[in-house]
Amino acid sequence: MMTQTVAAIIWFAGLVGWYIIRHPFERKAKKIGVSKSLFDRRESGLLAVALLGLFVIPAIYVLTGFPASFDRPFVPAIAWLGALTTVAALWVFRRSHVDLGRNWSISLEVREQHVLVKTGIYQFVRHPMYSSFFLLGLAQALLLPNWFAGLAGIAGAGILFVFRVRREEQMMLESFGDDYRSYIAHTKRIVPWVI
Ligand code: SAH
Repeated sequence: MMTQTVAAIIWFAGLVGWYIIRHPFERKAKKIGVSKSLFDRRESGLLAVALLGLFVIPAIYVLTGFPASFDRPFVPAIAWLGALTTVAALWVFRRSHVDLGRNWSISLEVREQHVLVKTGIYQFVRHPMYSSFFLLGLAQALLLPNWFAGLAGIAGAGILFVFRVRREEQMMLESFGDDYRSYIAHTKRIVPWVI
């Protein structure tokens, strides 16, 4: 049966799944050299904002009920949709890590022997990992019956995306030139054929 507590547990399980998927890639990435890094204070600020929206704010809500004035009615069918969206987010997140392989990094970095990936999930969108952030944010909004804590995830993912994506594509253009230019011409950023 879908209750508010079950929905909160699903929200938390999504984050645990997220961590389980990412952890091995983070460990491997430490061993691979970086040839160019744009990791600066702006980038750590953006990561902090995403963490705030997708983890800190909803965690405070789940643990304390704050801010109760933004509560909305709990609708089990909406929470079920949230559960499905969580599964979709984790699937896209995992696919993008597997397909990006050793080229992954948490921030904007070009690895030694960096390869431009245009296959797997990257043939449909250029930024599937950011798509999965939005899906996770959407799941949060559907699972948590609070407008503020629910929508904080989409806001956090949106700020990270808006302030990072142009810089990331500029960096990829400088590294891969025409190859990335033609990749841009054939793909969308986060929603296949749409955005
Ligand atoms: N924006 C991508 C990747 C996020 S990880 C996504 O949302 O799926 C960030 C790192 O991925 C950046 O340091 C960049 O060097 C690398 N990257 C981004 N797109 C890539 C691609 N198509 N092929 C190889 N590396 C890529």
